[in-house]
Amino acid sequence: MYENEDPALSRYDLVVVGSANADLVVGVERRPAPGETVLGSDLVVHPGGKGANQAVAAARLGARTALLARVGDDAHGRLLLGSQREAGVDTGPVLVGGAPTGVALITVDPSGDNSIVVSPGANARLTPQDIRAAAPLFAAARVVSVQLEIPLDTVAETARALAPGTRLVLNPSPPAPLPADVLAACDPLVVNEHEARYILGILGQEAGDTPEEWAGALLGHGPRSVVVTLGAEGALIADSRGGGGVRVPSPKVEAVDTTGAGDAFTAALAWRLGRGESLEEAAAFAVRVGAAAVTREGAQASYPTAEEVGAP
Ligand code: ATP
Repeated sequence: MYENEDPALSRYDLVVVGSANADLVVGVERRPAPGETVLGSDLVVHPGGKGANQAVAAARLGARTALLARVGDDAHGRLLLGSQREAGVDTGPVLVGGAPTGVALITVDPSGDNSIVVSPGANARLTPQDIRAAAPLFAAARVVSVQLEIPLDTVAETARALAPGTRLVLNPSPPAPLPADVLAACDPLVVNEHEARYILGILGQEAGDTPEEWAGALLGHGPRSVVVTLGAEGALIADSRGGGGVRVPSPKVEAVDTTGAGDAFTAALAWRLGRGESLEEAAAFAVRVGAAAVTREGAQASYPTAEEVGAP
């Protein structure tokens, strides 16, 4: 039972701790070879980063959302703060300065293949001390969501800083070894196939071939629950308190751009868990949000409102 399920005790449905990046995208006829220079299209700059994406996705659905992130005192930081505020995210906890805003430098060729260089910038300067200083924020949250585009120490401190009764949703992307106490705090751990295999590999465990096997094996390492996302197939949920291995199918849609679908799914899941829904109910909602997000171009630009997915 989560104490913070009582709305009177919580100011935020969801606090997202994570990255905020400016995605700098240039179209090219072909990506440059080493030492080569090629001309590209006009530069397009999108707000991105897994933390920023999740916060926007949740707020657009109607969740009372705050973002704890770090951006630079620069134009990209202002762009990111603007997109968060426009979606209705409380940006009060966002820290500004210390390094340039994180950027992803993306070149895309006509076949859609891309090359990406990420400069973490300010994301790498979000410290465990920043997390400790945000204790009142955690005390006001029903659910805290975190990913791995910030330092692992900071992720670990987030898991340790949770107020009693606050639920942790962790998406280990990009995958990295997780301390045992962090794994044990996840409820749920949200992974795709690649992340599931990576984490099981690090733990020295044979992964198996099916999502049911991955979820079962991951549960054995401490998370209270696990969600495996399966792209167009939806998701699989497993809960250590019972209810192992339930498939939650996705609505069939015409996928246009899957960028950021995982972030939309995770944000929707976290929000609905905070409202007291079961993992299966929350996942059934989240697959609708993920499916809606793939029907439109972009990451944040593709995220639906609750009305658009026909939900209260
Ligand atoms: P990404 O890293 O691209 O954001 P991911 O690998 O973390 O995504 P996926 O399993 O690809 O996660 O997708 C997350 C969710 O988005 C799925 O569980 C599903 O609900 C939805 N989704 C993704 N692709 C499709 C699709 N082609 N059709 C319908 N829903 C989809």
